[in-house]
Amino acid sequence: MRNDLQPSGIGNEIINIGHANHSRSASAHAPALLKPILDEAIRGFIESSPGSLIDLAEQHGSPLNIVLPHMLKKNVQAFGRVLQAHRVRHAIYYGAKVNKSQALVRAAVECGIGVDVSSLHEMRDALRAGARMADLCATGPAKTSEFHAELLAGAALISVDSAEELSDLIECSATIAPPSRTRLLLRYRPAASEASRFGMGSEDMLSCLQQLVQMKDRFSFEGFHFHLSGYAVETRVQALRELLPLVENARGLGLRPRIIDIGGGMPVRYVDSDDYDAFLQYQCKEHYRNGRVPESFYPYGSRLDAPGWLDALLASPCTASQSVAAWLNDNDLILALEPGRSLADQAAISVFRITRVKQLAGGGHAIFVEGSSFSACETWFNSEFLVDPILISAAEGNDATQAGPVQAYIAGHSCLDDDMITNRLLAFEREPRAGDLLIYANTAGYQMDLLENEFHRHPMPRRIVLTIDAAGRQHISPDD
Ligand SMILES: *Cc1c(COP(=O)(O)O)cnc(C)c1O
Repeated sequence: MRNDLQPSGIGNEIINIGHANHSRSASAHAPALLKPILDEAIRGFIESSPGSLIDLAEQHGSPLNIVLPHMLKKNVQAFGRVLQAHRVRHAIYYGAKVNKSQALVRAAVECGIGVDVSSLHEMRDALRAGARMADLCATGPAKTSEFHAELLAGAALISVDSAEELSDLIECSATIAPPSRTRLLLRYRPAASEASRFGMGSEDMLSCLQQLVQMKDRFSFEGFHFHLSGYAVETRVQALRELLPLVENARGLGLRPRIIDIGGGMPVRYVDSDDYDAFLQYQCKEHYRNGRVPESFYPYGSRLDAPGWLDALLASPCTASQSVAAWLNDNDLILALEPGRSLADQAAISVFRITRVKQLAGGGHAIFVEGSSFSACETWFNSEFLVDPILISAAEGNDATQAGPVQAYIAGHSCLDDDMITNRLLAFEREPRAGDLLIYANTAGYQMDLLENEFHRHPMPRRIVLTIDAAGRQHISPDD
């Protein structure tokens, strides 16, 4: 394998490792570059003020997660435009587990959407951010009785995962006698996910519906819910089609379903789709430190972004004569969505400071950063975050000892052999130096804080909020 990058960036400026004059024809086996797609405001922040990023890492430590709540609002608006174009009544719930940032929950509440919570703690964060209980949708298969009690008392919408959970709720309701009827969704398990532990098959759904008919004074059946793994539009359309007879059954029993909640899983595009396809096509085991091509990746270069996905879903045929949108509208149904990752698209960057660059026996380099792969999760799932980091040099100019171009992988600061930020070999035009920064774009969606911990007694990574006003002025504040 050869490295065919041309040196181009020098000094205290951004050198995106995807920037150089990369010629695929020069070497069919060179790994394709994966430049991050960056929102213009974020690009402006990174490019205009590399010095302030160095200062921020100095002040707050490394890794540093910089959260951009205004991006969540932009993402909500983009969904809103699609829903309005299809004239579909809708309710959006921010899937709060995607990121621990309180500022993101607050951004969701401020733009008037609900919050999908799966624990007492997520519920309390949402309330602290100003959400009303009525704007919460509680999901998850293992809600505790304490969580149930608070949801019942506050009249939140509850998605019931199993017949067993419905029994628990009935019991809890008898004990606490909530002030108003409890609003319930029933979570469906599509035929294609028969082995899943989430949701209920048709038989259990029917028996729950029958119970709910008997308890109309205490429970209000609101409709159906599902949340599927994977990112395909078609699996959701298929699940909807399977729900049609259940909607009829419910009506036949005298219930009035109002909501169809299709969960989350709308895809985020992190890198250009053509670059991504080229990457997949040309990658080989030589491109990885451990000589292993991961078996699966998130679809980082998805052709559909989240709004495009929703548009495709709504336009898909649902019945012989109706699209999904038409079916929802003709049946006076509200479409509920619980996007997590797609609402957090572009809503954070993660800054890792380089501690040491070490030359390896085989000729490559290991870059050690202050921070660990727990703050960039993907290698723990035997996969890779297929977005190239942006290198920011701390010092002006080149120094004569710097080799370049070099290939390097990026390791965390722990003593675990598996503590790899990336096993993928990255091409740098010049050897990075201690004190330089690696900026990972778009880490808000399950990357930055899902596994974070205090291993080796390193303190928890800090999270700060960056707001950029209409005039382009930047303001940093704590994320609390
Ligand atoms: C995780 C989850 C979501 C959010 O999923 P994304 O892939 O982040 O959009 C929504 N609903 C439920 C029930 C979930 O478990």
